[in-house]
Amino acid sequence: MDRYARQSVFSKIGVEGQRTLAKSRVAIVGAGALGTVSAAELAGAGVGFLRLIDRDYVELTNLQRQTLFDEADAREGSPKAVAAAERLRKINSEIVIEPIVADFNAANAEKLTSDVDVVIDGSDNAAARYLLNDVCRKLGLPWVYGGALGSVGAAMSFMPDGPCFRCLFQHAQNGGESCATVGVLNMLTGIVGSLQAADALKILLKSPELDRRYRTFDIWNNEFDAIEVSQNLDCPCCGHGDFEFLNAPPSDNAVSLCGRDAYQVAGRRVADDNINLTLLAEKLNPLGNVRLNSFMLVFESASVSFTLFPDGRAIVKNVKSAPAALSVYAEYIGA
Ligand SMILES: [Zn+2]
Repeated sequence: MDRYARQSVFSKIGVEGQRTLAKSRVAIVGAGALGTVSAAELAGAGVGFLRLIDRDYVELTNLQRQTLFDEADAREGSPKAVAAAERLRKINSEIVIEPIVADFNAANAEKLTSDVDVVIDGSDNAAARYLLNDVCRKLGLPWVYGGALGSVGAAMSFMPDGPCFRCLFQHAQNGGESCATVGVLNMLTGIVGSLQAADALKILLKSPELDRRYRTFDIWNNEFDAIEVSQNLDCPCCGHGDFEFLNAPPSDNAVSLCGRDAYQVAGRRVADDNINLTLLAEKLNPLGNVRLNSFMLVFESASVSFTLFPDGRAIVKNVKSAPAALSVYAEYIGA
């Protein structure tokens, strides 16, 4: 218990609370700016099990705010979930950390969250949040929303007996702005990620001090606000139990990745039938530069650049549209 002395002596947690945290399980969807901050804090705080789910790999522009990565991770293009887990194990070897390199989607959402006590939203897009909202409401799980853009951040804990994310935002709010176009301050992502981690701790400890309001703040223009959100009885999700994002049929389409000229192509969805990356690497070798490791294949030529994961999912870089990404996939990887 010694390593947690500064925390268990805090009267709202105590030795008993520390034991509760050791038995607690948290899933973090997205190991980006918010996810790395909350993961580091929950690992340090002694939460016994952390599952990190992320579909992407580390790039140099991540290092400004994604606190668990370094330049070597960006050079190697390590999967974020794996690089984050390696770093977290150095912070705390006494807890269990499970990295999952995958897209959080309707096919795996229930499996990845059904055995945890709380889920933290470290995603960067509306689709993931509406899906998270559906799956958590269905399973009766609390989840902690976080968002950050420019100097403006927001956070809210969604409890199974209160309003849901769709009561707050009935439709996606994305006005086409992203971290790539308007930027994001690392002090802001630090604050939002920390607030999410604090909320998660209060939820795990059933603390009466949990703030269930929608909190927003602009750390540059010095505005802080909190509003009560009431449940919408006509809400499709929590009012009618219609989990349309969770029940959506799987799509093989390409989706744009937040703030990058990159698209994710879902590819084949047969989980147990992985692509033979070694064989494909031999085929691609004459066409460009191929790098292969146990997690992925990276291909680069003058005009085409993509990263392919064993489950058939690919991130196609430097393309401006979904059809362009799908045609790269068909030509180089196979339909
Ligand atoms: Zn609702």
